[in-house]
Amino acid sequence: MPDPNVNTVAEHIQQHLIDPEICIRCNTCEETCPQDAITHDSRNYVVDAATCNACNACISPCPTGAIDNWRQVAKVQAYTLEEQLSWDELPAPVAADANDTTEFPEEVNRLEAEVVLGQGGSAVAPWSATKPAINLFGVRAPAIATVSGNFRLTGPTATADVRHIVLDFGNAAFPVLEGQSIGILPPGTDASGKPHYLRLYSVASARDGERSGHNNIALTVKRVTEDHAGRPVAGVASNYLCDLAKGDTVRVVGPYGSTYLMPNHAGSNLLMICTGTGSAPMRAMTEWRRRRQGTGETGELMLFFGARVADELPYHGPLLKLPSGFIDVNLAFSRATDQPRRYVQDAIRDREADVARLLADGETHIYICGLKGMEAGVDDAFGEACRGHGLDWTTLRPEMLAQGRYHVETY
Ligand code: NAP
Repeated sequence: MPDPNVNTVAEHIQQHLIDPEICIRCNTCEETCPQDAITHDSRNYVVDAATCNACNACISPCPTGAIDNWRQVAKVQAYTLEEQLSWDELPAPVAADANDTTEFPEEVNRLEAEVVLGQGGSAVAPWSATKPAINLFGVRAPAIATVSGNFRLTGPTATADVRHIVLDFGNAAFPVLEGQSIGILPPGTDASGKPHYLRLYSVASARDGERSGHNNIALTVKRVTEDHAGRPVAGVASNYLCDLAKGDTVRVVGPYGSTYLMPNHAGSNLLMICTGTGSAPMRAMTEWRRRRQGTGETGELMLFFGARVADELPYHGPLLKLPSGFIDVNLAFSRATDQPRRYVQDAIRDREADVARLLADGETHIYICGLKGMEAGVDDAFGEACRGHGLDWTTLRPEMLAQGRYHVETY
């Protein structure tokens, strides 16, 4: 713990820290860090001050902003990894030394600008997106929502239990926009006796409520029964949510997310690619557009949606009922017994000409959500669609990113 009385002006650093109250432990920062400065234990993600060079490569991929925390500390007193691993919350900033003439903010800004240039730009919201509210409720004072519905979405033959959960906020103002996420605080403690950390879920309903004009939000939640290696494990938050009954109360924090937002101007096209429960934001955006029909907020909607089988595809029935003039739906099933394995990237290839036409249109906004593994395949498919139609994806993608027209949320 830095001693504010120690005068080590010349040796101060801006120490990079991760907020354990907001972090959803998705591992994105650890995977992204080019210095291997980020590590974790069963609870916290932490940054090694001796290795971190403040390159900021991890900042924009973080879905919650937990990664973007800095404390000015004397270099010799930087918080150790052990200290950070023991935290339930960030330490308060130490009061600035009046004699301190170092210019850390400028240095951080300079490094940030370099990195943003290097990666082709950080994510920005579409120019016409509504300004979102963020961080209205924190871990110490969460909103309390009441479950007003919990329905199984997956069909009778599906092994996966995916549920549509509706949370009612009563008189509490919890405004969300399509594409934003909320945090759920599961009750109880983990193996080390500490309260469970929050888990993030994308909002699956439109901004004016799951039921239009109501103060409620829908989530799409898959009951986690195994880890990535296929070993049996019961997901803490997903099982908690999937087992909730009508009338139960839930602690909710957030909302989060200020860039993965939909455009709200006439003529803006949505090109949406998702797998499994990554369909949540696509449902929200599609429903908002459906409710806005006739208001002038028009534009093409094209959806590529992958699931193992039809019975496992959330919202399969309602999706197929939407008129083809309103949305162009393309499904890909990877484990259907009566057809070859197909992924979303295969479906994109099948519709290459129409995809290229949309990519060439400066009003098209791309949204990708779901499994991390899909990113590379989708990127390749866009590359091929561009090559075949006189476009260059390697220049178009960074352009779209910088213009708030390319949005990815994968775990
Ligand atoms: P899933 O059922 O495991 O998979 C959905 C489909 O994606 C399957 O057909 C699967 O094929 C396919 N797939 C697997 N690897 C792929 C690849 N490399 N490229 C393209 N398709 C691939 O999906 P899930 O369990 O629902 O997972 C959805 C993901 O969305 C999770 O990572 C979740 O964290 C994330 N997410 C969820 C929310 C939410 O609000 N719930 C929000 C944002 C993101 P196979 O037959 O090969 O498995």
